[in-house]
Amino acid sequence: MTTIWAERALLPDGWAEAVGIEVGADGRIARVEAGAAPSGDRYDLVLPAMANLHSHAFQRAMAGLSEARGPEPRDTFWTWRQIMYRFLDHLTPADVEAIAALVQMEMLEAGFATNVEFHYLHHQPGGTRYDNVGELSERIAAAAARTGIGLTLLPVHYQFGGVDRRPLGPGQQRFGTTPDDFAVLLDGAEAALRHLPADAGIGVAPHSLRAVSPEALALCETLRPDRPLHMHLAEQIPEVEEVEAAYGRRPVEWLLDNHAPDRRWTLIHLTHMSEDETRRLAATGAVAGLCPITESSLGDGIFNGTIWRGAGGRLGFGSDSNIRISLIEELRTLEYSQRLRETARAVLAEPGRSTGRVLYEAGLDAGATAAGRDTGAIAAGRWADLCALSLNNPVLHGRKGDELLDSLVFAGGEGLVRDVWAAGRHVVRGGRHEQHERITADYLSCIAGLQERM
Ligand SMILES: [Zn+2]
Repeated sequence: MTTIWAERALLPDGWAEAVGIEVGADGRIARVEAGAAPSGDRYDLVLPAMANLHSHAFQRAMAGLSEARGPEPRDTFWTWRQIMYRFLDHLTPADVEAIAALVQMEMLEAGFATNVEFHYLHHQPGGTRYDNVGELSERIAAAAARTGIGLTLLPVHYQFGGVDRRPLGPGQQRFGTTPDDFAVLLDGAEAALRHLPADAGIGVAPHSLRAVSPEALALCETLRPDRPLHMHLAEQIPEVEEVEAAYGRRPVEWLLDNHAPDRRWTLIHLTHMSEDETRRLAATGAVAGLCPITESSLGDGIFNGTIWRGAGGRLGFGSDSNIRISLIEELRTLEYSQRLRETARAVLAEPGRSTGRVLYEAGLDAGATAAGRDTGAIAAGRWADLCALSLNNPVLHGRKGDELLDSLVFAGGEGLVRDVWAAGRHVVRGGRHEQHERITADYLSCIAGLQERM
C-alpha cells in the first residue's frame, strides 16, 4: 500500500483539503480520506489524471512537415492526408514502437494517464500482411509496457476509399481490412495486450462512414459489445456532402436514424452538425471526442460546444495527430474557439463551476467512458490515475478552488505537472518520465533512419 497525501485535491464532490489517498498494490485506489494527517509522499495539489481519448501515435513524427503550401489552390485536410500517406509508407514496426513510446511519454508528462489509441496502421507498405496479424498492435503494446501508460487499444476497421465503396488508394493499403480480416485482427490485437497490466483494454473502431459500409458498421457493433466503440464522424464538409449524397442523410442524422448511439459510442470530431443534430446526439449520452489542437491544425472548423453542453452533451479530449501533446492546451483551445465564435467570455462555464473546472471534469468523465476504464475520479475502487502539481510557481501560487484549474488551463504552460501515476504506476517524477532520456534517444535514431529512407 502506498500513501499519497495532498494539501488539496479534486474529489468527486468538489475541492478537499488534507487528502490522504491510499493506493493498493493492484493499482486501484483503496481509500480516500479528507482532513487526514500528513503521511507518505506529500504534494500541493492532486487531480485525477485524464484519459487522452483519441490518438494516432505515428503521426507525431510528421509534426511540422505539412505547413508549406502545396500545388493545390487550397491546402486542406485532404492535401495534408496525402502527405501523411506518403510519410507512413516508410514506417517499420520498430519505428512504430519508438514513436508510440515517445507519444505515450509525452502524454504522461502532460498529465494524461491513459492513451486511447485509434490504431489503423496494420500491414506492411503496399498492404502485404505481416506474418503475425497483431504485429503493429504488439508494437503499441510494447511501447505501453515501457512507458507504463494505461492503454486502451482500438483496432480500426478500414474497408473502402470512400462512401461509394471505391477501392483503397495506394496510400491506404496499410490500413485495409475486410470484415472477416478485421475480426481476426481484433483477436490478434487483444492477444497483444496479454502481457500488459490488468488496466489495459480493447475496443472497436470502425474508421468512419467514408471507410466502412453500413453492414460492416453493424457487424462492428456486435464485436466486443461491452467495450467502447469509436468512429470519426462529421469532421469535414466534403465528408458530410459525400455521405448525404450517398445515404440521403447527413452523417450524424444517418447515425441517429440507423443506430442507437449511447454511452458506448465515442464520436470523434463532430465538427459539422446542424443544431438539431447537435441536440439529438447530445441527448444520447454518446461522447464527443474533441481534438481541438488537431482540429485547428487541419482547419476542420469549430464544434457546436454551447448547444452541445446546453443539451447535456458529454465531451472529452484527444490529441489525435499529436502535432502537439498538451492537455491544458486542448482544453484552452476548445474554450477559445467558442469565445471567438460567440464574441463572449467564459462560454462553457456553468453556475457554480468555472470554465476550467467544467472542461477538466467533462474530460475526466468522458475520457473514462471512452477508454472503457475505471478512472476519472479520486475514489475508492478506481484505478489510481493521478496527477500532482506544485503550487510553488507564478501560475498557481495563491490560487484556490476553481481558480486553480482556470489558472492551469488559461495561464499554464510547460513544467507544471510534477508527478503522474497510471493505475498506481508512478512513472513521472519531478516533471520527467523515468525513462525520458532513453525513449527520446530511441525516437531520435528512428527519425534519423526515416530521413535516410524517405
Ligand atoms: Zn483521428
